[in-house]
Amino acid sequence: MSDFSFIQKSELFSYSGTNCIRNDYYHHECQLCVEICPEDAFHIVRDKLTLFSNECIECSACIGSCPTEALSITSFDPNAYTVSFKDTQEKLLSCKKTTACLGAFDAHHYITMALSSEQMPACDMSHCQECSLNKDKKVASFIRDEINKTNIFLSDCGLKDGVVIIEETTEEENPKRALFKAAFSKVKDAIEEDEKSLSMTLEYQKDPNKNGLPLKFLHLKQALKENISKVSFTSHATNFDIFAKKEISFKDCTNCGDCINFCPTEALLHTSDKQGINFNVGNCIACGICDHICKTDAIKTAKGIDLVDVAFDRGVELVHYEMVMCSECRCPYPYRGGDPICDRCADFREDFAHIFTLQKDM
Ligand code: SF4
Ligand code: SF4
Ligand code: SF4
Repeated sequence: MSDFSFIQKSELFSYSGTNCIRNDYYHHECQLCVEICPEDAFHIVRDKLTLFSNECIECSACIGSCPTEALSITSFDPNAYTVSFKDTQEKLLSCKKTTACLGAFDAHHYITMALSSEQMPACDMSHCQECSLNKDKKVASFIRDEINKTNIFLSDCGLKDGVVIIEETTEEENPKRALFKAAFSKVKDAIEEDEKSLSMTLEYQKDPNKNGLPLKFLHLKQALKENISKVSFTSHATNFDIFAKKEISFKDCTNCGDCINFCPTEALLHTSDKQGINFNVGNCIACGICDHICKTDAIKTAKGIDLVDVAFDRGVELVHYEMVMCSECRCPYPYRGGDPICDRCADFREDFAHIFTLQKDM
């Protein structure tokens, strides 16, 4: 059975359709949660993501995969855990002791923990191989990929240590759906008492002033800012999949503003005179929507990223135009030199030149 409201819930787990980038932008093809869910609780119905709540066992394995934090569980908040990590004694992330399934974290969380703490996080993956959540090895491979991504980032930044993976015991694990349900319903009462501290992410999402940036991205920026002295190399040739620097071709951009209107995080904004486009790399989550929506392929991801720009929200003007009135249609358009005629009228002239010629000859 499925629900079709914006928020779909099982007992503790919820999926917010308004925060899902796939549902927010019709052409986005994200289905990371569908791929990782061990119980096939997510389905794409009429191109929209739908949670079949009866199938969800509230294991939290999918939470970290969501780039826009549309998925959450009231029993464990990876953002709250990440923020408190620097003050915890034991730097061990273990589904048996300190956390929910490590699938609840992604590279944003690991990098934040690694930068803000004196000691690197150690991830206990000893139980992954035998865990019933790890069907087709998808959950373990997601966890490993995110840790690898983190360690590449840390190493490129000049840090000599990285997140440690522990794979020691192979004790038999076979948590069944019923066990998960029972375990989580037992903690439900305790959760209700302390719901606020467990739901930092949900509280953040209710904030009317937030600009669409996922909380894990905000925490990562803060960790970079506070620990920039630990980073020996701030300028990089790659964007690590989690950042993107954009560029706009002056020749191709029509200043239509579509990229601005569809950017989910306000990384792109009109200049105050509306005749140009500003970009804040510290707000860009590399979703690619602007590239997709641009009809003239004017906007692209540029090579390289500077972490100081990301951490300190350094904005840059990508294009600026002088808007002039088109001599044919009298509409304002971005002037690039030559006859004052807009692209639409220039195309029209070219497409129907033969008709005008015939008229002239008659
Ligand atoms: S991973 Fe997140 S953004 Fe992607 S389809 Fe699932 S809920 Fe939507
Ligand atoms: S980059 Fe593309 S979408 Fe953005 S304003 Fe220019 S033409 Fe429009
Ligand atoms: S600037 Fe483009 S890639 Fe970056 S968040 Fe906005 S739409 Fe996504």
